[in-house]
Amino acid sequence: MVTGRFAPSPSGYMHLGNVSAALLAWLSAKSRGGEIVLRIEDLDPVRSRREYAEAIMDDLKWLGLSWDRRAEDQSRRGAAYREALERLDTYPCYCSRDELHAASAPHASDGRIIYAGTCRDLTPDQRRRQAKPPCLRVRVPDREVAFVDGLQGPCAMSLQREWGDFIVRRADGVAAYQLAVVVDDAANGVTEVVRGRDLLSSTPVQIWLYEALGLKAPAFCHTPMLLAPDGRRLSKRDGDCYLRHLRGMWPPEKVVGLVAWLYGLTDRWERVSASELARDFSWNRVRRGDIRLDLKTLL
Ligand code: GLU
Repeated sequence: MVTGRFAPSPSGYMHLGNVSAALLAWLSAKSRGGEIVLRIEDLDPVRSRREYAEAIMDDLKWLGLSWDRRAEDQSRRGAAYREALERLDTYPCYCSRDELHAASAPHASDGRIIYAGTCRDLTPDQRRRQAKPPCLRVRVPDREVAFVDGLQGPCAMSLQREWGDFIVRRADGVAAYQLAVVVDDAANGVTEVVRGRDLLSSTPVQIWLYEALGLKAPAFCHTPMLLAPDGRRLSKRDGDCYLRHLRGMWPPEKVVGLVAWLYGLTDRWERVSASELARDFSWNRVRRGDIRLDLKTLL
């Protein structure tokens, strides 16, 4: 039985990029008789808003992307994350963002800071002398993690060289995304993670976390990104790509049909429902490269 998931962060409204990840996750599970779990990823207390969570659920329903179960919101899962943290080899890190940048650590292409291990071996005494609350980092082994992505093919990454000891609990006490997503996907019985390619570089650390926690990792499929015409990631500046805007002009089948066509599932932009697409969905047809979208030229 395939269990896929929607894992939206309620920090903004849905745009066509979010729609495409949700549609492909739904099609992949439903075309094989599987189910979908919805989990609201409201870990970040500052950016998450109830209103966005409601709007996202309303948009998913409008698109015909139903879910079979709703998992607990991440903001309510503190106890599960604490329990997982106790099973990992972690240490407090007092470095500020500025210090991390100044340490001239090599930067990965996506802007992530590769941690140089500055606080790895502080003595208890050195720790006591720190004034600010620390984040927690997990000690990663010097090892390569390899996996086969359902769409991108074979991938491999060195944990030490390309991540370093990464953050599992933020300084404000909130569990880090990497930890929460692993604990929750496992608790929710997720067997397949379909999400945007922007998260591909997080997958090796997540696969390693599954191992470290004695959990079984799901399969992964990372989908091409929908980009603005100049290659930027879609943002509020691209207001016409937001579902709130498109819903005022088009029926759901026209939005689903646009995404299906852009991702290679149909030969032209036609009205189609998600359940019609599920009948003959195959990952073989899905495009692998990122897609630049200029809505104005299509209208
Ligand atoms: N909550 C994340 C987002 O909305 C997705 C995390 C994931 O799919 O692993 O970008």
